[in-house]
Amino acid sequence: MDRVFLKKGRERSVERRHPWIFSGGVERVEGTPAIGSTVGVCTSNGTLLGYGSWSPLSQIRVRMLSYSADAFPDGAYVRRLVQAAIGRRAAVGGGSPLLEAYRGVRLVHGESDGLPGVVVDSYDGWCVVQCASAGAEHFRGDIVSALTEAGAKGVFNRSDVDSRKREGLSQEDTFGVLSGEEPPGLIEIREGKIRYLVDVRKGHKTGFYLDQREARTQVGEYASGRETLNCFSYTGGFGLACAAGGAKSVVNLDLSNSALQLAERNFELLFESGVPECPVEFCCADVFKQLRLYRDQGRRFGLIVLDPPKFADTKAQLLKAARGYKDINLLAMKLLEPGGILASFSCSGAMTPEFFDTICREAACDAKRDIQIIGRTRQAADHPTALSFPEGEYLNGLLLRA
Ligand code: SAH
Repeated sequence: MDRVFLKKGRERSVERRHPWIFSGGVERVEGTPAIGSTVGVCTSNGTLLGYGSWSPLSQIRVRMLSYSADAFPDGAYVRRLVQAAIGRRAAVGGGSPLLEAYRGVRLVHGESDGLPGVVVDSYDGWCVVQCASAGAEHFRGDIVSALTEAGAKGVFNRSDVDSRKREGLSQEDTFGVLSGEEPPGLIEIREGKIRYLVDVRKGHKTGFYLDQREARTQVGEYASGRETLNCFSYTGGFGLACAAGGAKSVVNLDLSNSALQLAERNFELLFESGVPECPVEFCCADVFKQLRLYRDQGRRFGLIVLDPPKFADTKAQLLKAARGYKDINLLAMKLLEPGGILASFSCSGAMTPEFFDTICREAACDAKRDIQIIGRTRQAADHPTALSFPEGEYLNGLLLRA
C-alpha cells in the first residue's frame, strides 16, 4: 500500500479526527497512488495513523476514511458506513427511511457521516447519489450496492458537479441510473401535510433542498394572516409552508422558470390536500431588482423569506459576498410592515453565524429599522455536523422581527 507522510506536527489534526489533509501538510509520498485510491497516512517518523483517499490534484490531498491502523477501509468497510448512516436516520424516523412512503431524507452527509465527498438523498425510496471527490468516486460501486441492499427502488447518479474538476475527475458517467429502475419524472415526497414534486434529473443538487426542512416548518408557524414574500423560492419551499400556516397571500420569486412551474404544481397539490386557498403569485425575476421595484412601489409584506444560493465558495470570496447579503437584507427590512418577520438564510460554508449577524445588524442600521432576533435555524438533523469537522456547518438562519 502507498503511504503519505505528514510534516512534523501535522499529525495533530488527524489525531483530532479532522478528515482533511491539505497539500501543505504532506511531507512526502511513498509509491505512486492512483487517483482516488486508499493510502496509509503516517506521521513524519512513520507511525501509521489511519487511511484516507488520495486526491493528487486537489488542495485537499487526502480525505480520511479511518483513524485506526487496524481498520483498513475496503469495500465492505464503506458498505458498513452506508448502512450505519441509514440506521441513524431510521433511529430518528422509526423504520427504514428507504422503505417509508413519501419520505425525503438525506441518508449520507459526506464527511460528517464518515464518507467524504459522498451525498445520498432518498426521495420516496429513490436514491440520488453525488460523488464529488476522487475517493467517493472510487467507492461508488460499494455505495450503490449498499443502497440497493437496503431497499432502494433505484439509484440515480447526480455527480454532475463543478467541484469534481478540482479533483481531476471527468464529467463523464456522472448522470443517470446506476442500479434498479429508472425513477419517475417527478417523485412525490411529503413534509407534514405538504406534498412536493421532486425532479431528480433537472432539479438543483439532487433535486430538492432537504436541508431547510426544519426551517420551513419554523417559518410556517409565523405565517398566519401575513402577506408573504418568498424570495429565491425554487419549487415553492417556504411559500408552501407559509400557505399551510395560514398566510394571507404568497408571492414566490425566482429567476428559474422551470422551478416556478414546479412550484405552481406544488401549490395545486397543497390546496387539493385541504389547506384553505390563498392568493399565490409566481414571479420570474431577479430578487435584487424586484425588491427595489417593490420599494419604489411602496409595497409592504408581513413575512419575507430570503433563501439565496451560495454567494461565497471560499473565505476569500466572503467579503464580496457580504455586500450581496447586506443588499438584499437591507431591502427586505425596508419592505417589512411593523411587526413583520424576516427569515434570512446563508448557505455559504465560509459564513459564520457571528458574521451573518453583523451583516444583518448593518443592514438594519442602514434601513433605520429596530429589529429583534427571535430565532435561529440550521440545517436539518439528517444533515449532521461532526464536531471534529466544523467546516460541515454551512447553513445559517436568522428569524428577525421588525
Ligand atoms: N428556498 C428554497 C431553496 C432556494 S435555492 C427551498 O426551500 O426549496 C436558491 C434559488 O435561488 C434557486 O431556485 C435559484 O434559481 C434562485 N436564484 C438564484 N439567484 C437568483 C436571483 N438573483 N434572483 C432570483 N432567484 C435567484
